[in-house]
Amino acid sequence: MPGQGREVVVGLDNGGTTINATVLDSAGRFLVDCLVEMPSRVSEGPGSAIEALAYAMDHVLELTGTPRGSVRAVGLDTPGPASADGVISHRGAVNFGDPAWRGFDIRSALTSRLGLPVVYNNDANAASLYAHHVHFGAAATRRSSVSLIVGTGLGAGVIESGRVVRGAAGMAGELGHIRITMDGLLADGQPVPVCNCGLPGDGESVASLTAIAKNLLPYWLTRFPGHELHGAASLPEAAKRVRAYADAGDPMALEIFRQQAIAIGKLFTIAANFTDPDAYFLGGGVVEASPRFCGWFLAIVREHTDLRDEQVPVTTFALVPDLDMAGARGTALAAAGTLGWTPAGLSVPPPL
Ligand SMILES: [Zn+2]
Repeated sequence: MPGQGREVVVGLDNGGTTINATVLDSAGRFLVDCLVEMPSRVSEGPGSAIEALAYAMDHVLELTGTPRGSVRAVGLDTPGPASADGVISHRGAVNFGDPAWRGFDIRSALTSRLGLPVVYNNDANAASLYAHHVHFGAAATRRSSVSLIVGTGLGAGVIESGRVVRGAAGMAGELGHIRITMDGLLADGQPVPVCNCGLPGDGESVASLTAIAKNLLPYWLTRFPGHELHGAASLPEAAKRVRAYADAGDPMALEIFRQQAIAIGKLFTIAANFTDPDAYFLGGGVVEASPRFCGWFLAIVREHTDLRDEQVPVTTFALVPDLDMAGARGTALAAAGTLGWTPAGLSVPPPL
């Protein structure tokens, strides 16, 4: 058996519809190099979802030929909002619709079910941790980074000395809900966008799929009366197609993504003045497009990130790699960190 005698941690990325699972050994090697997905059964409520997570772990162990007795800890992530310890928000969460999820302690429930220590992070923090460790390798514990991940919402993570900054209530690093100035961002007559969180003009109100459907597309369609997307069945459906249009050079879609890139640059500027990180990582659908579009987008982000002269030569901008696996891998790294594993090339410190 290939995994015999090897100590491992398991990473479980628990999404609204699927779980992605991975295995990381104490030498810093991921034993899975592809997406290992299973249904998350989240919509059936916590009981079914916990069983699905247990099954996902057994499945990925079997796939990698790893005995269950080799597992020392499990990393778990979910979409937010949840507390630092994995209690799903009492107000509910978009991906956890069943009322039984409200205030449910998913970390403790999985700990009981598996009889193993479970380390919790939200999905954006997990992906940020992975991006950080991939980029910096053995230097990860001496470096800091800030990640923004554009999806349905705008996920973010702040890493200091190779560790996720969680904050007192687990709410640190929510850059998406910081208000930014709309100067130089909005077009003439464009209303100030409003976020689902209620704030006008925060990062997520511009740089998210939700923002395209709710704020940006309704305005830009009025400026492009002949655009094909007028014929879409609904705004959410049209919003999902904007990236493909942008990738093909469509002028309206490019205006929408230009505004998103400017918003991201403004958030990175706040980070530059707040934690002054070594690296700025960008992830999400926008970076899964063609290299040409991706390069155009990142150039606008950089142009609108105001760095001081001293910061320019010591900072880098990069993309979050392997985004579909970043959550599972990041949460496995977080679990490894609690065990004090510092494998060569993938140095992981204990949590703060
Ligand atoms: Zn917001």
